[in-house]
Amino acid sequence: MFHVEHYQYDINMFQDYDLIVVGGGHAGCEAAAAAANMGSKVLLATMNMNTIAQMSCNPAVGGVAKGQIVREIDALGGYSGIIADKSMIQFRMLNKSKGPAMWSPRTQNDRMRFAEEWRLQLERIPNLDFWQEMVAGIIVEDQRVVGIETSMGLKIKAKAVVLTNGTFLNGLIHIGEKQFGGGRSAERASKGITEQLEELGFESGRMKTGTPPRVDGRSIDYSKIEEQKGDAQPEKFSFSKETKVLEQQRSCHITYTNPLVHEILEEGFERSPMFNGRIQGLGPRYCPSIEDKINRFAERNRHQIFVEPEGWDTVEVYVNGFSTSLPEDIQYKAIREIEGFKNVKMFRPGYAIEYDFFPPTQLKTTLETKLVQNLYFAGQINGTTGYEEAACQGLMAGINAHLKINNQDPFVLTRSEAYIGVLIDDLINKGTDEPYRMFTSRAEHRILLRQDNADVRLTPLGHKLGLASDERMEYVEEKQSHMNAFMANLKSHKVTPKHVNTNLSKVNSSPIKEKTNAYNILKRPEISFTELSQIEDELNTMINGYSKEVIEASQIHIKYESYIEKENQLIQKMKNLEDLKIKDTLDFNQIPALSSEAKEKFRKVRPQTLGQASRISGVTPADISILMVYLGR
Ligand code: FAD
Repeated sequence: MFHVEHYQYDINMFQDYDLIVVGGGHAGCEAAAAAANMGSKVLLATMNMNTIAQMSCNPAVGGVAKGQIVREIDALGGYSGIIADKSMIQFRMLNKSKGPAMWSPRTQNDRMRFAEEWRLQLERIPNLDFWQEMVAGIIVEDQRVVGIETSMGLKIKAKAVVLTNGTFLNGLIHIGEKQFGGGRSAERASKGITEQLEELGFESGRMKTGTPPRVDGRSIDYSKIEEQKGDAQPEKFSFSKETKVLEQQRSCHITYTNPLVHEILEEGFERSPMFNGRIQGLGPRYCPSIEDKINRFAERNRHQIFVEPEGWDTVEVYVNGFSTSLPEDIQYKAIREIEGFKNVKMFRPGYAIEYDFFPPTQLKTTLETKLVQNLYFAGQINGTTGYEEAACQGLMAGINAHLKINNQDPFVLTRSEAYIGVLIDDLINKGTDEPYRMFTSRAEHRILLRQDNADVRLTPLGHKLGLASDERMEYVEEKQSHMNAFMANLKSHKVTPKHVNTNLSKVNSSPIKEKTNAYNILKRPEISFTELSQIEDELNTMINGYSKEVIEASQIHIKYESYIEKENQLIQKMKNLEDLKIKDTLDFNQIPALSSEAKEKFRKVRPQTLGQASRISGVTPADISILMVYLGR
């Protein structure tokens, strides 16, 4: 006979954690993995374990400037690059016709496998526990976070908490005149956290983003639209040998809207939440909805649409470029007028979502909040948009939370070290009132922050933190020594001018006059190593033993050496400002010569160095000179 009273229930379901990460999106996954891999006991508390690492919008990773971020995450020992590689269905290196600072890797991904690979990766980390429930609030004692409270009323203790709630905070979904609460299609909104943080003194704002309809690929006439294949020689994101390049790829396709599509969409404008004032939040300027595009660029009679498969096996297709919150009947009517889409069946309508965010000027360089100690914010909650932007913040917050609770120095990347440094520096100093996404133009030292050298720049730092493995560090050392050896060989090999002048038509305008070493010849922008090696036997045999990666990285180094040197000198000058620390206790009101705008901005942002102070918008060079004098320089 079974007696219930004989059973003892363990009511201590949870241990005391070092870190609780709230939210299993792109930021949350990286944060939890990083802290656990560094040795913290971590709990990942997320609303729905089946949607861990869900790609809310397009099934793709990387792209311009975002691809560089993924390589940086990978170089530091994060997982986004590995997961993207394991789930990619197509690889393209964008901007290959431009300079190497612009080359940006991008993968098309299998949406379901991406999420599954992340989940499996997290499950392999021993220090990481999971809890599926909505977190209702944080527990704060003496201006320090000490745990979380869930919607069932469970209290779980932790030394630090990272909030990565994405688009879920008071999320409100719009489709035409319909609006309903939700953090993402078919998922609940998160209630309570914004209100609690506001009570604690945080300022919040509202933003919006949108997504296009998904359609049935079986109903698309692919013969009518242009095929876009992956690269003939695909690469991958991760520098590690854990992942492989694709042997087979799936193609995307390109089609266009037309005046009839625009006309139909315009019929729905008066029922559009974008135009009737129902949406209050500001959307991403660089990723506008189709209604926004036809409204803003009325002179254009077509817009490009990328037809992207959602995976290897599924028939579902993502209609990139057709993001909309117009009524579903209008979406359906309009989409069927796109070339190739005459008989298309819609699986899911597009929608817009409004959500709360917290202006990131309320954060320190470590992503810890200034108001509550050991509380960190990462991802869309900070006003950014994009998986890559979210993932890198998660990684940095996870690393810094671990370091803080172990009384170790913070880990901060500068603007000259990484795009990640640019992103965080921009956020905390300038804030953002529209969804922030990364662009190469945001980085002043972009010739240094290339995708090909992210490992050389960052793996030594990731290794020191205990995140990048010994094996990864060995690859970087090996790559560097191979590059050095290869470049030394090029310096010692003298090229015969006649060979070059007669075989390379590109040098005709300025022929080579005397025997010159191959290294110097490669400085010429019009000559590539591949071409040179084809006309000089000795160079052709030199290739053996060097990987494509080493040859390419060396060539970039040679061609851009003088720019790189200039950038490094500039950075050295800037470093003097970065080294000048400003005490937390400094009262800016005591510096009478400062402009009142600078005083106000300094009080709000509380810059930690003179360099940081100089990048705050509204602060003038005169304010910086005054501050410098006050600090005794
Ligand atoms: P998310 O990926 O949103 O993850 C948040 C996680 O937190 C989820 O797992 C959620 O379940 C969990 N969570 C939230 N609140 C709680 C709580 N209280 N308790 C427990 N768990 C909680 N980006 C682009 O770059 N381009 C686009 O065009 C684009 N369009 C988008 C369209 C839509 C409709 C949406 C929803 C997003 C779009 N994005 C776009 C943004 C992109 O999806 C996000 O930038 C990215 O996913 C943010 O990652 P994150 O980790 O911050 O948050």
